Amino acid sequence: MSSNSNTSSTTAWYSLDVEHTLLLLESDAVDGLTSEEVEHRLEQYGTNELETTGDRSAWTILLDQFTNIMLLMLISVAVISAILDLRTNQFPKDAIAIFSIVILNGVLGYLQESRAEKALAALKRLAAPIVKVVRNGKLVEVPASNLVPGDVMFLEAGVQIAADGRLIEESNLQIRESTLTGEAAAVNKQADLVLSSETPLGDRQNMVFQGTEVLIGRGKFIVTSTGMQTELGRIAAMLQSVETEPTPLQKRLSQLGNVLVMGSLVLVAIVVIGGTFTLGLSQLEDLLEVSLSIAVAIVPESLPAVITFTLALSTQRMVRRQALIRKLPAVETLGSINTICSDKTGTLTQNKMVVQEVDTPSYTFHVTGDGYVPIGEFLTEPKVSGSSDSITSETLKSAPISALLADQEPELVQLLIACVLCNDSVLQYENNEWSVLGDPTEGALIVLGAKKGVDKDPLSRWLPRVAEFPFSSERKRMSTICETEARDWESPYVMFTKGSAEIILERSTRYKLGHGTEPMTKEQRASILKQNNQMAANGLRVLGVACKPLETLPLPEEDEATEQNLVWLGLVGMLDAPRLEAKSAVSLCQQAGIRTVMITGDHHLTAMAIASQLGIANLGDNVLTGQDLQQLSQRELEQQVDQVTVFARVAPEHKLRIVQALQKRGKLVAMTGDGVNDAPALKQADIGIAMGITGTDVSKEASDMVLLNDNFATIVAAVEEGRVVYANIRRFIKYILGSNVGEVLTIAAAPLMGLGGVPLAPLQILWMNLVTDGLPALALAVEPAEPDVMRQPPFSPRESIFSRGLGSYIFRTGVIFAIITIALMWWAYNHTHAAGYQGDKDAWKTMVFTSLCLAQMGHALAVRSHRQLSLELNPFSNPYLIAAVTLTIILQLMLVYIEPMRNFFGTHWLSPVELAICVGFSALMFVWIECEKLFIRWYKNRG
Ligand code: ATP
Repeated sequence: MSSNSNTSSTTAWYSLDVEHTLLLLESDAVDGLTSEEVEHRLEQYGTNELETTGDRSAWTILLDQFTNIMLLMLISVAVISAILDLRTNQFPKDAIAIFSIVILNGVLGYLQESRAEKALAALKRLAAPIVKVVRNGKLVEVPASNLVPGDVMFLEAGVQIAADGRLIEESNLQIRESTLTGEAAAVNKQADLVLSSETPLGDRQNMVFQGTEVLIGRGKFIVTSTGMQTELGRIAAMLQSVETEPTPLQKRLSQLGNVLVMGSLVLVAIVVIGGTFTLGLSQLEDLLEVSLSIAVAIVPESLPAVITFTLALSTQRMVRRQALIRKLPAVETLGSINTICSDKTGTLTQNKMVVQEVDTPSYTFHVTGDGYVPIGEFLTEPKVSGSSDSITSETLKSAPISALLADQEPELVQLLIACVLCNDSVLQYENNEWSVLGDPTEGALIVLGAKKGVDKDPLSRWLPRVAEFPFSSERKRMSTICETEARDWESPYVMFTKGSAEIILERSTRYKLGHGTEPMTKEQRASILKQNNQMAANGLRVLGVACKPLETLPLPEEDEATEQNLVWLGLVGMLDAPRLEAKSAVSLCQQAGIRTVMITGDHHLTAMAIASQLGIANLGDNVLTGQDLQQLSQRELEQQVDQVTVFARVAPEHKLRIVQALQKRGKLVAMTGDGVNDAPALKQADIGIAMGITGTDVSKEASDMVLLNDNFATIVAAVEEGRVVYANIRRFIKYILGSNVGEVLTIAAAPLMGLGGVPLAPLQILWMNLVTDGLPALALAVEPAEPDVMRQPPFSPRESIFSRGLGSYIFRTGVIFAIITIALMWWAYNHTHAAGYQGDKDAWKTMVFTSLCLAQMGHALAVRSHRQLSLELNPFSNPYLIAAVTLTIILQLMLVYIEPMRNFFGTHWLSPVELAICVGFSALMFVWIECEKLFIRWYKNRG
């Protein structure tokens, strides 16, 4: 390696030819770098990562905490309270406390938010792309962050390029460089160009750049610069800033904050104006104090922090269930999803393809064998006449290719050669296991060939690939062109094509029969189609295979014209079994009011067979194909979309139309996708879901969530988590606001009952709202799912947070809270003012304070479930709640019995009897909520 570590960033690589570049970077186009060299260069150049300066600065996060309207109101309360205290020469204890709590709340919010952002950034790093490189002469997959200058990396459609580099070779490579140049049109790349050193960035056709995307084609390049040394790093154009938009829930909560602040201002106005009228101006100061307490009491100070904590926590929980959240709002939206549009291959099925049936014009072969192990037999079924012995792989493994061609099954051998050469995957044997690197569909074909001794390596040396028309979901086919010169073939080039059976058949005008070919007749075509349908109806994924001799090498854009007049070789049917867990996930969706829709590029009969095995559709149900979609206007599609559960042979652009039609029908749609062209549909969907394993980087970038295991069941698990999060948020809103309403009513009632003075000082209210409400609320955020969470219909995004009885619950519990505390307050006041009472006359206030706190503890335990009685729940299923309740009770007792704390919080010592009375009264809250549950249960059973 060049001793000058800046070489890689300063050289105009595009003005050098490939050999020179390789020489300078001391690498090898075939063998790549050695592991030791990679280690060395990693040390020299650092990891291939961009510094994400797009994140919000720490200061912005901190300042944002104080723009919250509720905190602003608290600050005003603190100022007024300070003025009142200073006027009477009292130490402004309440004001200082409120200020400190405002600051504490702000800092807590800051810590949690920046932690959430960091966690999100870490999660994003988890989804960082994996790249294919050659190292030590072997093709390996490594994290993109591990790339170093000199690495030889492979490109294919959908890959987001992870470093800058000089192309070594390419085939029809088109790259979108808009992130770098702003130019939306795809750029054609060419490896063999040598450009002038003046060439501007946008015209460097022999280079590829970090952050750009491969639209079509394939290629191989040598990395010239990484990390911040790349063009992208240098101009810092595309920085993966963390999403910081507020979630719909956060928006709803800030609206809630506005309502509460407005409400409290109205209440304060009523108390001050009404009170002055009835009690006179002399009481103004007392009334102001009551008002301040009301203002402090109504604000749920702990709510924002608890919400942030819950959302951040849920992303961690989801990642444990293999769902990676890329955008925080997705957590809530997931809970509201009512339609999941899923790909078939790999998501609903295992994507472990095994060829089971091969159909050539003369024979149908049943192929035996398991997984990717290249051992199996071809059991034949003659179609016309004649017989064929099955030949085991062992006998042919070492047979020379010429022997293969002379084989008694020339049609089969020719088809296998096509399958193996029109193929980009690699069969590997490592750690006693056979596996496939690349597309499983192609992997199955390599294994098929290997079972008959048709191995890719010797074949591709014999017929080297010189050009190709790559696969895309739109084309549904691919072709490779191999050189045959001097190899005794009938033409200098031969093209092998495979793809959707109908498309290949449509383009075939002859078919292979024995050693020769015959014109494709109508009858032959019909018989092939019949066979195709039969295989598809059995759930097999069927590909058509063909070949064509070529006299000249076509240009990359001549695919349409070249892929005509093909010679039909046969059909290959592979089994891609449904995922075992997908069936139960589909039925769970049904219970949860979520419709599953299959959208696949595969044949409609294959799709239908799998859909019916999974319970998504019933045999005979309506299927719409891409062709049908083409005929329908968007309006017509909207009218039908609710009735269709299987869309087959669709192209990615149809996915966008389907999502739009469903959304028009008011559905909240989750949509999966993996290809480059799925990105618009993923963006359009309410939840765009990319595949972690097979997904392209582009699709991941466009998604809200990534499935780390590509599994449909994971989507359902994520939906469940989303619902649990929303249920927990509703639960602690119920909990916190219920008590706030109780506090406000109690405070307002005291002067009306003529008790004189405010029962709760602002400091005590803050204590309740932050500590005695906050700690259990945090514990409620980790409450496990209620058993019926997936048996409820989804929450519509338009549904208010107070729907399904939450608003009335808050009001009801608030009133009960108030009734219990007011009753206690009445008793306690009379008790402490009774003749002969020895203790502190103001102890009644502390009794009110203590019983409000203790009642909230009962409330916290009871609110865990809205149906099940607390006795029916496992108390240890949420140990955090038990810990939070115990800790809160201890803290509350410390406030009453430890002198310095008593002085600070303005509480009074309580006798054991007084404390027991408080416990008794506050237990009533728990009893009430449990009775309510019993009543509802009884009422429902009766109904
Ligand atoms: P899904 O959309 O459910 O993931 P799919 O894999 O069938 O299913 P596409 O990848 O769009 O969807 O493929 C469309 C069709 O193209 C397939 O049904 C198959 O006929 C054909 N096909 C798939 N992979 C290849 C390939 N590697 N080479 C040639 N043809 C292919």
